[in-house]
Amino acid sequence: MTYIDELVAVLGREKVLTDPSEKFVYGADWSPRTPDEFVPPDVVVLPRSTKDVQRLVKIAYAHDIPVTAGGGLTGMLGGAVPIFGGIYVDTTTMNAIVEIDPKNQTVRAQAGATLQEVNDAVQPYDLWLPHQPESKWVSTVGSAIACDNDSTFGVRYGKILNCLLSAEIVTGTGEILELGHRKAHFTSSGYKLKDLLAGSEGTLGIITEATLKLEPIPPSRRVDMLVFPRMGAAVDYLSRLLKAGLCIEAAHINCKRRLRFYTHSYKLKHGKDPDIPQWAEALLAIAFAGDVEVVDSHRAHALKIAKEFEAQLVEEREIVDSWWMSKYTLDFEPFKQTWPDSQTKKKFGAADPGVPVGRLEEFYHKFISVAEKHGLEIIGMNAYLAHPNSIGFSLSCAVFVNYRDKDEVRRFREFHDELSRLAVAFEGTMSTFMSDTYQKAPYLELEHGASLKYMREVKRLFDPKGIMNPGKKFGREGAGR
Ligand SMILES: Cc1cc2nc3c(=O)[nH]c(=O)nc-3n(C[C@H](O)[C@H](O)[C@H](O)COP(=O)(O)OP(=O)(O)OC[C@H]3O[C@@H](n4cnc5c(N)ncnc54)[C@H](O)[C@@H]3O)c2cc1C
Repeated sequence: MTYIDELVAVLGREKVLTDPSEKFVYGADWSPRTPDEFVPPDVVVLPRSTKDVQRLVKIAYAHDIPVTAGGGLTGMLGGAVPIFGGIYVDTTTMNAIVEIDPKNQTVRAQAGATLQEVNDAVQPYDLWLPHQPESKWVSTVGSAIACDNDSTFGVRYGKILNCLLSAEIVTGTGEILELGHRKAHFTSSGYKLKDLLAGSEGTLGIITEATLKLEPIPPSRRVDMLVFPRMGAAVDYLSRLLKAGLCIEAAHINCKRRLRFYTHSYKLKHGKDPDIPQWAEALLAIAFAGDVEVVDSHRAHALKIAKEFEAQLVEEREIVDSWWMSKYTLDFEPFKQTWPDSQTKKKFGAADPGVPVGRLEEFYHKFISVAEKHGLEIIGMNAYLAHPNSIGFSLSCAVFVNYRDKDEVRRFREFHDELSRLAVAFEGTMSTFMSDTYQKAPYLELEHGASLKYMREVKRLFDPKGIMNPGKKFGREGAGR
């Protein structure tokens, strides 16, 4: 009996896809790759429960078969692509909301529920899960944890770890473990093993359920945009606002080029890009949230301070609304519309480094020159404040990539690698929201030095045969396959 026969016997035919046409879509995510780089899995499993996941992992363990879990498949660096074939676990069939506990402000959800599905379920209780990437419509609870993505509202609520209380996983041997502190909001007990899951990319096990902390929905929100002559001036202004203790909920610096990427609805209506002053190099989109009176007074204080930083308020509300609509309110435009540069020809490709805040502007100029050197069309840089009340930025350094052009895809990867290495040389990190996948694996030692040995040991403990998403984090060679 082959392992696929066993999967069918144990899980049932309806949960196991073997037809090439059904498997094909699982061979790529949103990362730039040429059509011949699609790597469909050998078999796809559609589990309904943690027990199903346990059953399939036990079969994989017995036969030494790779297992790759995926959610919405919108990862931009190939994290969920099953590069060694084997079993792909489509977790989106596990999307139940298990429990809502309004008193304790927690929700328990299966890992395949999208972040939007979680929010739809808890909204009647006047609660929300503030961890909200643009891709919340398709990004799942499990993948948000596994790739440690970032959120529009990071400056107030942080990243997924700030909401993650507990998670259930199936390890590489098929053991079911609950990691974390259940509904208590924090703990000083034990090692914080659940924290290892953030950015683990399914290499330690498959996340099957999670308990997440919710927050009250703020009574009001006001979004504004200010333009600055330099990126550094926008950074200094944000530092000053944090010092002032204002009710900032979101803060995103866009370079001038990047704004244009986010204003599709404005362009569709007016047939042109929004006008911003010639001298403006950086745009800060900032949201204040809380009671109306608090928002009004904090906003007024922020605008008063803005005068000290040569900033100018964008008065045309349509520009601000167009940006916010793309970012948050509606489905992110690229998911549904034909871009001027359609996703059927060109893909959004990005590097996600993090650098010390004092060198952000210097790094921005490096990004532009590295993209130009590799002959890539620049979309621009977006710098998000990603940690509560702190001046640490997630960076998205984005370019267009024509994925039908092999040479351009190769140049994109070189661009990505160069920025990753540069970020470490700047005393920063290679990744702030996409994790490592196989792409950053060759440079892992550069960032982590001798501690890489401990990471490998942790992996071995959870996944002794190395079957869980092999090739990710430690690279193809490190996978021993
Ligand atoms: C238009 C667009 C906008 C985006 N906006 C943002 C943004 O604002 N912020 C941001 O950070 N990113 C953003 N991204 C990148 C990406 O969408 C997110 O990182 C998202 O979290 C990926 O979710 P997914 O469900 O599609 O994950 P997938 O691509 O399916 O998987 C991502 C990783 O998680 C692992 N994984 C998935 N489920 C599990 C599980 N249950 N257990 C263990 N491992 C698992 C996979 O193996 C893979 O390594 C965007 C992407 C696009 C295309």
